Amino acid sequence: MAQRLLVVEDSKPIATVIKQIAQSLNYEVVLATSLAQVEEVLSVNNDFFAATVDYALPDALDGEAIACVLSHGVPSVVMTGKMDDNTRQKILAQPVIDYIPKENSQAFLYLKRVLHWQQTNSQNAILVVDDSSSARNHIVELLKRRNFTVYTANNGVQALEKLKQHKNIKMVITDLEMPEMDGIELTNEIRKNYSRELLTIIGISGASNGVHSARFIKNGADDFLRKPFCPEEFYCRITQNIESLNNIAQIQHAANTDYLTELSNRRAFFANAEKRIAEYSKRNIHYCLAVLDIDYFKKVNDNYGHDAGDQVLKVLALYLRKHFGSGLTARLGGEEFAILLHGLDTDQLYNKLDDFRREMSISTLPCGDTHISITVSIGVLFDSREALSKQMNEADNALYLAKDNGRNQIVVSGTDIE
Ligand code: GH3
Ligand code: MG
Ligand code: MG
Ligand code: MG
Repeated sequence: MAQRLLVVEDSKPIATVIKQIAQSLNYEVVLATSLAQVEEVLSVNNDFFAATVDYALPDALDGEAIACVLSHGVPSVVMTGKMDDNTRQKILAQPVIDYIPKENSQAFLYLKRVLHWQQTNSQNAILVVDDSSSARNHIVELLKRRNFTVYTANNGVQALEKLKQHKNIKMVITDLEMPEMDGIELTNEIRKNYSRELLTIIGISGASNGVHSARFIKNGADDFLRKPFCPEEFYCRITQNIESLNNIAQIQHAANTDYLTELSNRRAFFANAEKRIAEYSKRNIHYCLAVLDIDYFKKVNDNYGHDAGDQVLKVLALYLRKHFGSGLTARLGGEEFAILLHGLDTDQLYNKLDDFRREMSISTLPCGDTHISITVSIGVLFDSREALSKQMNEADNALYLAKDNGRNQIVVSGTDIE
């Protein structure tokens, strides 16, 4: 269901812009143009995900609408035409998500980012480490306004424990001076197990000399905040660090994923298969490595067009996921795929592959207006102790034998075909 956004704004052109921004983020927008209307809307149904509130309205010139919306428990972004220090203090004294001066078009770009973060921040878990409960609660409160998932710890030892418990933590915000284990030692300990690509650390200290920021950074922290900090500064650091972490994750995903089928690509398959095979060998677990190729795929393109061919590849990838969910599957390139699978014994593994082959041969794949039938050929080898590249070659050779022998079949590497 769409998240409801309350837009409080008396200027029609501005309301229109905000509405467009919100709708582009899939919000369902409800507009109110005066304080009276805000009260009416909220009395009927105050189940809003968030609100944007104009500071000055015809019947509420001095920000009265903000308190009204907040009192209904609706997280609010304040839009204001005034940017004097007095107004800022007045707004920040209330638990708002943010305030945005309507000075230029930047304001609306920024609003879009804030509304987007509000939707996505719950996926970003943050651990707040501080021995002072008031300092901890202050940070937690700021983070919760922005919808982050938040965990807390009183010292470094507890923090390491929480990190083990909650694998979704992406950021640690840590105080410097704490009993048992201080922030610097904690940073040092975290970096032994968590790389900067997976976890960001921000150090915080109230001490006035500049050495602490340097110590934090040299011990593996990514950023530093000096207490006391203003909310703008705090949010800016948090969002920048979370965004760069998410950017790295996206780049890594793109580098390891086939763009068409969303399966692993060849590179990722080699890296992951090597690790898994080492584990299987060590623990004497039966496994197979298979290479699969669509039969006469060129004809699919010739008969139905390249887009339909793409669609077939996508649907085949879905079937691969369905059949081999616990294994590794990848698109090696073109219409060639790889499967790494572990199981009870060779027979069971062979049967799983053959079930897949048979299902493909009797299914018709939905592609636009038509349905397309395909078959696949598979080359496979079991429990090999050879290097992965050698295994891939052997599976490939078996695949060519399957093609030679009439396609739509599995050939086990090392068996003779008469
Ligand atoms: P065989 O049974 O011997 O494997 O015959 P084939 O036609 O499947 O094999 P061939 O290697 O001759 O042709 C593969 C075709 O796959 C040619 C190429 O245009 C097509 N192909 C490769 N990648 C893609 C893709 O990403 N999308 C589409 N639509 N076609 C692709
Ligand atoms: Mg302290
Ligand atoms: Mg082919
Ligand atoms: Mg081919």
